[in-house]
Amino acid sequence: MGDGGQAERDVAEASRRRGTNLPAMADFNQLVILDAIRRSASGLSRVELALSTGLSAQTVTNITRRLFASGFIAEAGKESFGPGKPRTILRLHPPALYAVGVHLDPTVTTALLVDLAGEPMLERRMMTPLGQDPELAIDALVAMVEGLLSESAVDRARVTGMGLAAPGPIDPLAGALVDPPHLPGWHSVPLRDELSQRLGLVTLLEKDVAAATAAELWVGTPAAATGSFVFLYLGTGIGAGLAVGHEVLRGSLGNAGEIGHIVVEPDGAQCWCGLRGCVAVTCTPDAIVRDAIAERVLEPLVEPHNTVLVDAAFTRLAARATDGDDAARAVIDRAAERFARALAVIANLLDLDRIVIGGPAWERVAERFMTIVPAELDRMRAARSIHPVLIEGTTLGNAVAAKGAASLVLDRWLSPRTESLLLPVPGA
Ligand SMILES: [Zn+2]
Repeated sequence: MGDGGQAERDVAEASRRRGTNLPAMADFNQLVILDAIRRSASGLSRVELALSTGLSAQTVTNITRRLFASGFIAEAGKESFGPGKPRTILRLHPPALYAVGVHLDPTVTTALLVDLAGEPMLERRMMTPLGQDPELAIDALVAMVEGLLSESAVDRARVTGMGLAAPGPIDPLAGALVDPPHLPGWHSVPLRDELSQRLGLVTLLEKDVAAATAAELWVGTPAAATGSFVFLYLGTGIGAGLAVGHEVLRGSLGNAGEIGHIVVEPDGAQCWCGLRGCVAVTCTPDAIVRDAIAERVLEPLVEPHNTVLVDAAFTRLAARATDGDDAARAVIDRAAERFARALAVIANLLDLDRIVIGGPAWERVAERFMTIVPAELDRMRAARSIHPVLIEGTTLGNAVAAKGAASLVLDRWLSPRTESLLLPVPGA
C-alpha cells in the first residue's frame, strides 16, 4: 500500500477523536490536533487535520500557529494533492517535551528519558538495591533519575512527568506497591507520591506488564500493530499485558494480567499460593536456575536468594544453552515448554492471534524459547485449525517497560482527555 493509503488510515484513526469548536475548549482542541498529528506516521496537512478532527479550518489554523510558536510541531515538507497549492505537512517537534520512564524490577531498575516522539535519549540501569528497607531503593531511584536528567542537560521545565512501572499488585489510588512477591519488606509503599515529591515531577504509577503493553501500542513490535495482542512479560516474575482495540486492559484497579499461578507442571515445585508447579515457580529466572542447580547443570549459589547472583547464574545458563550445551539447553527448553502451556491457557481464553514476548529476562532465552514455544503452543491451542497465532519477541529491548512508563506520560499529556489538562504544560 502506498502513502495515500497510510494517510487515509491516519485520517480514519484520527477521526475517532473529534474536537469541538467551542472557544472554551481551546486547550482540549490543541490536544486533539497534537494527538492527530502524532498518530499519523507521515504527518498531516491542515486540510487533513480539519477533516479528521471535525474542527473548522480557522480553528486548525489558529491552533497550529500556536503550536508552531511554542515549538510542539514543525513543518515536514510540502505535498501536492492534484491542482492547487501544495499542502504543508505538519509533524511533532520531538525536542519540545520530554518524559522520564522508570522500571523498577526486583532485580534491575531502568530509567530513561524520551522525547515527545517517544524516542529514548538516554538510559541508565542499576541493580535494584537489596534489603528489607524500601527507603534504600527509593533513595537510589531518586539519585538515578536526578543523574539522568542532569546528564541529559535538557531543560527541566520541558520534562512533563515521570512514568513508573512496577511489579503488581499495585494500589493505583494510593500510588502504592502492595506486597510485591519479590520485594520483601515492601508493604503498601506509597512510591508514587514520594518520588513525585522528591523529584518535583508529576508521577504516574503503572503495573510493569501494563507499561510494557503501552510501549508496544506506542511504538511497537509488528505483531502489536493491530492494537489487539497479549504481551507476555518475563522478568523476575511473569505476567501478561492485554491490549484490545489500541487500549491497555487494566482490570478494575490496574492489576489485570496476574498469570503467575497458572499450573503448568502438576507435580512441580511447591508454590507459595498452595498449588504445585505454577508458572511463578517453574518458568521464572530463579526457578530455571534452581532447576539447573538441582540437575547439577549449575553449581549451587553461595546465597540462593541473592537476586544479583541468581541473575548472573541465569545469564550463564542461557549463554551456555545458546552456545549448544545440551544440559543447559534441556533446562531452558523445559521452561519454554511450561511457558507455552501457560500461553495456551491465555490464548484459548482470549482467542488471540498475536503475542509479543519481552521483559528484562527475555533476550537471554529468546533464541531457545522461539524455537520451542510456537510449536508447543499450536499443539495445545483449540483454534489452531481456524487461525494461526503470530508470536514475536519484542523489538523494544529489555527496557520495554521503562519505555512504556514514559509513553504513558506522553500519552496522558497528548491524549484529548480531561485528565490530560492536569499535567503541566512546559513553558506555560
Ligand atoms: Zn502458585
